[in-house]
Order: sequence, then C-alpha cells, then structure tokens
Amino acid sequence: MTTHVIAIDGPAGSGKSSVSRQVAKRLQWIMLDTGAMYRAITWAVLDQQIALEDFESIGRVAINSEITIHTDPDNSQVFVGDHDVTQGIRSPEVTAAVSAVSALASVRSRLVDLQRSTVADAEYGVVIEGRDIGTVVLPDARLKVFLTADPRVRAQRRGSELGQDLSSQDLDHMEATIRERDAKDSGREISPLQAASDAINIDTSDLTQEQVVERIVQLAREVYPEISNPSP
Ligand code: C5P
Repeated sequence: MTTHVIAIDGPAGSGKSSVSRQVAKRLQWIMLDTGAMYRAITWAVLDQQIALEDFESIGRVAINSEITIHTDPDNSQVFVGDHDVTQGIRSPEVTAAVSAVSALASVRSRLVDLQRSTVADAEYGVVIEGRDIGTVVLPDARLKVFLTADPRVRAQRRGSELGQDLSSQDLDHMEATIRERDAKDSGREISPLQAASDAINIDTSDLTQEQVVERIVQLAREVYPEISNPSP
C-alpha cells in the first residue's frame, strides 16, 4: 500500500490527463484516469440503449459492469468486460452523456470504491486525476493540485488533440460544450467539481504541458522528499 499520492483535479480540457500521464512517467508511478471510468460506465449505458433518465438501470450497469483500466502511464487501454473501449469512450456521444451518468450516487459509489482500492493496492506511488479526488476520493492525499485554464484555451487544446484545424465558429462551439460540461460537473449535488481547500491551484493557460509537469514533479519532491530522483 502506498502513501505517495498526487491528486489532480480540474475541469474538462485543463490538461489533467496528459499532465498526469507525464508526471507518472517521470516519477515511475502508476496513473489512474478516473474520468475514463465514468466514460466506461457511460459507454456501457449507451451500448445497452438505456435512457439517461432510467437511473435504476444505470445503477445496475454500474454495479454489474466489469471495468478494467490500465494504470501503466504508457498504456491507456480501457475495457468493459471483453470490449476494448479505449477509443469508444472518447466519442462525442459518450462525452455528451457522461456528466448525466456521473451525477448518480450509485455510479459514484461503485467507482469511488474501485478508485480507492486501486490506490490501496499500489506498491509505490499513484497519480490520480478527476474532479473530486482531493475533496472526496482521497481527502487525505498530501499533494493536491487543481488545474484550470481559460475555456477558450481549453477549446483550442481539445481541437489540437483531435488533430483538427478549427475555424473560429468550431472553437465557439467547442468552448460552449466545455462550459456546459463544467456547469454540469460543478453544479451537481454529489461530489461537484471543486478545488479542495488545501489544493495548489495552477492556471495552465499560459504554460506549456512540460512546464506544468515540471512544476508538479517539483512539488512532489518537496512533499515526498524520500522519493528517489525521478528521471528527467
Ligand atoms: O476527465 P474527463 O473529461 O474524461 O471526465 C469525463 C466526465 O467524467 C466529467 O465530465 C465528469 O462528468 C466525470 N467525472 C467525474 N468525477 C471524476 C472524473 C470524471 O464526475 N472524478
């Protein structure tokens, strides 16, 4: 069981996943993308053609789905049962539905258990990212980071992740979608997106990914001085 944890929270497109992956690689720790878990349940709900209003059936899917998520930062594969859903969970349909599914208590309690047990089983260190890690999942984590960025910058980043040259109209649309997901994630009753009171806020709008990674690795060295010198 590890006591070395970095909890990284933040809104959609703040760069959490890429940054967490790079930090985990540098420290040679494992990495847990909790958003991928909520997406996996959402994928299963849509696959079974369950209506988003049918909370009972969604709860059953959450309990019965076997979710496998790789924690090696070099492997981002996700499975629901035998289905490799690594690509499928990034589809616009899943992205549009995930905030509704993740607002349900039944879904959250199943996934929070899974997240805590993955951390408890880790041998050394874990970088875990999401929306409620510092506030709910691991409130005792000794290093909590909250990443933010201007919504326009986040829209631009999402565009380049998709490898698309977006027109300003496309960017407006992307920005509106991001703001809508932020509002749903921040406004829900259970475990809303919010920074823990003891989190270190980093606005990444004007920083490169490498600068953000460097800052978090440095914080990790300060908080956990016993960790061996991570490779550059
Ligand atoms: O991080 P990502 O954008 O992939 O997360 C997808 C969705 O999963 C979020 O919009 C949010 O609704 C949900 N989520 C959550 N709690 C987490 C991680 C993600 O509610 N810890």
